[in-house]
Amino acid sequence: LVERMRPFGTTIFTEMSALAVRTGSINLGQGFPDTDGPAEMLDAAARALREGANQYPPLPGIAALRQAVAAHEQRFWGLSRDPDSEIVVTAGATEAVAAAILALCEPGDEVVCFEPYYDSYAASISLAGAVRRPVTLRPGPGGRYGFDEDQLRAAFGPRTRLVLLNSPHNPTGKVFTRAELTLIADLCQEYGTYAVTDEVYEHLVFTDAAEPHVPLASLPGMRERTLRISSAGKTFSCTGWKVGWATGPASLVSAVMRVKQFLTFVNAGPLQPAVAVALGLPDDYFTGFRAALQARRDRLVTGLTEAGFDVQPSEGTYFVTADITRSGGTSGIEFCRALPERCGVVAVPTEVFYDDKAAGRHLIRFAFCKREEVIEEAARRLAKLK
Ligand code: PMP
Ligand code: GLN
Repeated sequence: LVERMRPFGTTIFTEMSALAVRTGSINLGQGFPDTDGPAEMLDAAARALREGANQYPPLPGIAALRQAVAAHEQRFWGLSRDPDSEIVVTAGATEAVAAAILALCEPGDEVVCFEPYYDSYAASISLAGAVRRPVTLRPGPGGRYGFDEDQLRAAFGPRTRLVLLNSPHNPTGKVFTRAELTLIADLCQEYGTYAVTDEVYEHLVFTDAAEPHVPLASLPGMRERTLRISSAGKTFSCTGWKVGWATGPASLVSAVMRVKQFLTFVNAGPLQPAVAVALGLPDDYFTGFRAALQARRDRLVTGLTEAGFDVQPSEGTYFVTADITRSGGTSGIEFCRALPERCGVVAVPTEVFYDDKAAGRHLIRFAFCKREEVIEEAARRLAKLK
């Protein structure tokens, strides 16, 4: 194995999902829903399979999906895209992020990202021979996660090639505010860097969030330097389909395509028409999905609080984080390894997503993208910790 991949062992999601299976625990670790997405989408996939959409789709993705992605960005975010040159379909957001970094970074270039970061970011940055410059998110007053402006400024320098921003943010549930995004946008412009945004949770911002979701690409001066990435997995409860996309100026999209053609070339032929159908669903699908997740978040947060955790507010995503200090824990990793034995529930330590381990040692993440009765049972089990 090459040197640069040696620090990356088995992902925490694989380890914790295996632990859940082995111990018969409720898996609130890895973030995947336990119900299927919209029937219209599933029917469209079944139809496409039967009707012969089983060969290579075109490299940028089928026209119907690119048109649907463009219409969706216009409808929800007011961003206009040319489906023929400003959109590429990818094997999930994961491939889009990897291809973007591989396409834009020379060895030694620096990538500013916020920690805790999604685990594939560090690996993709290393694969490109680039260097990550993390800015630390920490719970502030009221538990809301924030960052130190000086640390962000200091992370930028002459080797900064791009900022990799995930909002709504996994694992914290933070939704970056317009003021925070403006600061990031100003620094991108001052240093002449690109931005790559991972917005896979774009539709999961809860009604009590401080502010709505704002794509960084929609801020002044940012459209021309931002690649916006999203995926069907989270919005349509089909994480196993791995259908994602990147949108942005034609020069950035064609750079991603150049790399993508040698990673997977194309993907998900019969699933692409189905995701096109899903993206065109009426607004009430999106609001209904969000409301269902918000109710589950609320039930889980009540359970966690009653079990003795200090819970940080989750404004969006599938996730909520909790501080284990008051429940007698010091290491989230040890706490999560012991939790199935203690109460039959699996969570994920967020320390593994930090370079600054001390910042995340006492924090763990729970996923609430599960059926109501599953969350209810998890809450009952967690109550045993008291
Ligand atoms: N980015 C973030 C922040 C995620 O949480 C996930 C999925 N868990 C991904 C990317 C990966 O998305 P996909 O499955 O579409 O590759
Ligand atoms: N994105 C999912 C999570 O954060 C897991 C994806 C994976 O297993 N790689 O839980």
